[in-house]
Amino acid sequence: MAEGLPALGWAARDASGHLSPYSFSRSHQKDDDVTIKVLFCGICHGDLHVIKNEWGNALYPIVPGHEIVGVVTDVGSGVKNFKAGDTVGVGYFRDSCRTCDSCSNGYENYCPILVLTSNGVDRDGATTQGGFSDVLVANQDYVLHVPESLPPAGAAPLLCAGLAVYSPMVMYGLNAPGKHLGVVGLGGLGHVAVKFGKAFGMTVTVISSSPRKREEALERLGADAFLVSQDPEQMKAAAGTMDGIIDTVSAGHPIVPLLELLKPMGQMVVVGAPSTPLELPAFAIISGGKRLAGNGAGSVADCQAMLDFAGKHDITADVEVVKMDYVNTAVERLERNDVRYRFVIDVAGSQLQGAAA
Ligand SMILES: [Zn+2]
Ligand SMILES: [Zn+2]
Repeated sequence: MAEGLPALGWAARDASGHLSPYSFSRSHQKDDDVTIKVLFCGICHGDLHVIKNEWGNALYPIVPGHEIVGVVTDVGSGVKNFKAGDTVGVGYFRDSCRTCDSCSNGYENYCPILVLTSNGVDRDGATTQGGFSDVLVANQDYVLHVPESLPPAGAAPLLCAGLAVYSPMVMYGLNAPGKHLGVVGLGGLGHVAVKFGKAFGMTVTVISSSPRKREEALERLGADAFLVSQDPEQMKAAAGTMDGIIDTVSAGHPIVPLLELLKPMGQMVVVGAPSTPLELPAFAIISGGKRLAGNGAGSVADCQAMLDFAGKHDITADVEVVKMDYVNTAVERLERNDVRYRFVIDVAGSQLQGAAA
C-alpha cells in the first residue's frame, strides 16, 4: 500500500454492486505515461454489469468507470503529444499487447489481452481501477485529445457510448450523406447515433418499442422518422428502405423484424448486448443478402477521429450530471432506464476525501 500514487475512489466490494468510498494506489507514472486528474466519468451499462458480476468476471474491489474526461497534470519524459493542462479522455481500454494481429492492423480493441480501464488486468498483473476516482495514470498511446470546444461532462460518454456507434457507422459506410440509417433504441448509445447520423448527412429513423419517445426523437434530436417496432403496419410500410441499422438495445428483442427493414445487401450492426441469445433464422439474412455484424468499442484512432468529428459538429451526449454520493441511486435509476440519456459523475466536484478506506 505504501508505494504508488495515492488515489481516492468509490468501489464495489461484492455482487450487491453497492459502491462506497475506497482508498487505493495507482502505479507511478512511467516515461510514456500521462497522469490525469479526473473531471467527469460517465456511468455505462457495462459498469452496471461488472459491479454486479453479471458477466462472471468481477475482480473485487472494483472502481468502475471507463468514460473518463480529465485534465493532464503531469507527463513522463517520453510523452510527445500531451502536456499539463490538456483536456484528455480515456475509454474502455488503456493498453493492449501491441504485437498481435489486431494490434498490428489498427483494431487493438480486439486484442486478446486488452487491458481494460476498469476490472481488467494490467500488464504487471495488477487489477485496473477505473474513472470513479480522482486520478488516473495511462499510457500515452491510449489517451485521447478531447476538443476544448466540447463541454467535458457531455463529452465523457463519447469515450464509450459514442465510439460504440461511431466506429461501426464508419466501418460499414453508414456515414454517407443521403443514406438511410435506422437506430434501434433511444438510450445512451442510440441518442448519440442519431446525432452522428444527422451530422453525416443521413436520413435517420429511430425504431423504438413504444411511441413514448417519438417527440423527443423527432423534435429534439432531429431524427427524420420514428417507427414503433410493436406496430406491424408501420414496420411493413418501412420494409426494405434502410441501408443500415445500428441496434443499441440491451434487452432481449426480436431481430427478424429489424432485418426486414433493410434494403438488399443492407448492413445491421449489433452494439447492445442482451443476455439472451439473438434469434436468427437463416432466411432472414439469405433473402436480400443481408449482413449482420457485431461491434465492440473501436480503435484508438477511431476514437480520436470520433472526438474530432464531435468537436467539429458540436456533438455531445445528453447528460445528467451527479455527484459521487449519488452514484448508487444513479445505478438503480440506470437499471430501469430512468435517465436521459447518460449519468455523468462530476468527480472533481465531489467530496471523495475524508472517506474511510
Ligand atoms: Zn461502456
Ligand atoms: Zn494485441
